[in-house]
Amino acid sequence: MKLKLSDESISSLGAELGPDGVLTGDDVSNRPSGIWRSEGIAAPVIFRPANTEEVATVLRACNAAGQPVITHGGLTGLVKGAITTEQDVVLSTERLNAIESLSVVDRTMLVQAGVKLEQAQDRAESDGLMLALDMGARGSCTLGGNAATNAGGNRVIRYGMTRDNVLGLEAVLADGTVVSSLNGMLKNNAGYDLKQLFIGSEGTLGVITRLMLRLRPAWRSQNTALVACRDFTAVTKLLQALDESLGGTLSAFEVLWQNYYELVAGDNPPLAADYPYYILVEALGADIAADHERFLGAISAAIDNKLVADAVVCKSGAEREALWQLRDNVDRTMDCGPVFIFDVSLRLSHMEAYVDTVLERLRIEWDGSDYHVWVFGHAGDGNLHFVCAMGDREQATRDRVERAVYEPLAQISGSISGEHGIGLEKKRWLPTSRTPEEIALMQRLKQTLDPGGILNPNRVFDLGGADEHG
Ligand SMILES: Cc1cc2nc3c(=O)[nH]c(=O)nc-3n(C[C@H](O)[C@H](O)[C@H](O)COP(=O)(O)OP(=O)(O)OC[C@H]3O[C@@H](n4cnc5c(N)ncnc54)[C@H](O)[C@@H]3O)c2cc1C
Repeated sequence: MKLKLSDESISSLGAELGPDGVLTGDDVSNRPSGIWRSEGIAAPVIFRPANTEEVATVLRACNAAGQPVITHGGLTGLVKGAITTEQDVVLSTERLNAIESLSVVDRTMLVQAGVKLEQAQDRAESDGLMLALDMGARGSCTLGGNAATNAGGNRVIRYGMTRDNVLGLEAVLADGTVVSSLNGMLKNNAGYDLKQLFIGSEGTLGVITRLMLRLRPAWRSQNTALVACRDFTAVTKLLQALDESLGGTLSAFEVLWQNYYELVAGDNPPLAADYPYYILVEALGADIAADHERFLGAISAAIDNKLVADAVVCKSGAEREALWQLRDNVDRTMDCGPVFIFDVSLRLSHMEAYVDTVLERLRIEWDGSDYHVWVFGHAGDGNLHFVCAMGDREQATRDRVERAVYEPLAQISGSISGEHGIGLEKKRWLPTSRTPEEIALMQRLKQTLDPGGILNPNRVFDLGGADEHG
């Protein structure tokens, strides 16, 4: 092993954490290193603490040895944030999997970091409440991972990102200090809001162990439609019109460009597949009859005003599920070979021209070659995904696509990450979206909280020195 942590320390951590607490050998290497990744985990050891104190014990030992630690949640992250080398150890949150309490009065739920998003959603629902956070990876991703990446998802337009749905959290610093900031109130201005340090910092400042989630009243009415638009101006006007007419209930506005729709809808598309844009629209409300009426009225008005060319409104839960599956069916793109996935954000007013620029740059660059680029995303939040199948998964190929996707963002002050984060994958592009002063402050925070640089080293940015992770 090439670890800084000695065999004696690993054995003694094994004694403290118990037989399920430390995995080595095939138990580690046979595990996939992420969703959609076939290769195993390179790190030789996985620590599986079962509570906060055990997390602190592991980190204290690793910090003393200068041992790099990579935290693993559900491994659905898409920016190589959880990738390991033989020099790393993994700290997995999979045994931190309890929902500790739920308060209907306070509308809060206290969970451990390894609880799956779907598990928490189901629990909230069974108590007549809702956890607003939602995304296609719900069955595998963890709330700790959601917070570490400040995940967005399908309802951001109405309920915000993860940081808007977390009231407080507990994290363990690199030296084993437990910072318990499990605020359960909507308002708390007693000093700095420390949870925000950890939310979106991709595991570089501390390991999140517990979260106090904000719950909302469960919706009673859910109205969903798929509509087609003839041009992008109609898409933006439709968003404005629905926002105004649905009285604040609009909760999803997901746009699918034509070729993505054609691919995922297959042989039986709910709407003819020859419009340039398709929008999955959803409204969540409290009054079943009145909300349905209002939703139908809003869609009809959009048709009358020529914003919408064709529409299908769901009449059952099964129809709704089928439409969402269509939106989330990213796997279909992988039938066309290896893909590169991009996640960017920008103002809606720049979106049409930006997408045209990227597609044109790729067309010129790959002139005459066989390739596919699909565009879709949470466009109502200004967040787009490109999925690019360029024939191989070589880094040199990826570099060429990255230039086409990221460079045009600089002129329009867009972001190289809408919701997936930076990880290892995007760090060299960070200066496209952040000033030198912003990056310097991030580095100072890292050096203050993790002076030994053991937590998820070299993710988001480099601190200089040897970089095993490239
Ligand atoms: C099908 C699919 C759909 C997706 N849809 C969306 C979407 O709509 N919106 C969106 O934002 N993302 C989406 N994602 C990306 C992914 O699901 C999110 O980034 C998610 O938040 C990752 O959670 P995880 O538990 O899988 O974290 P992991 O992949 O395990 O880790 C992600 C990062 O967080 C760190 N980390 C994990 N747990 C902790 C912890 N407890 N403390 C500190 N650091 C930690 C890891 O070290 C790593 O850097 C999607 C992914 C897939 C595969």
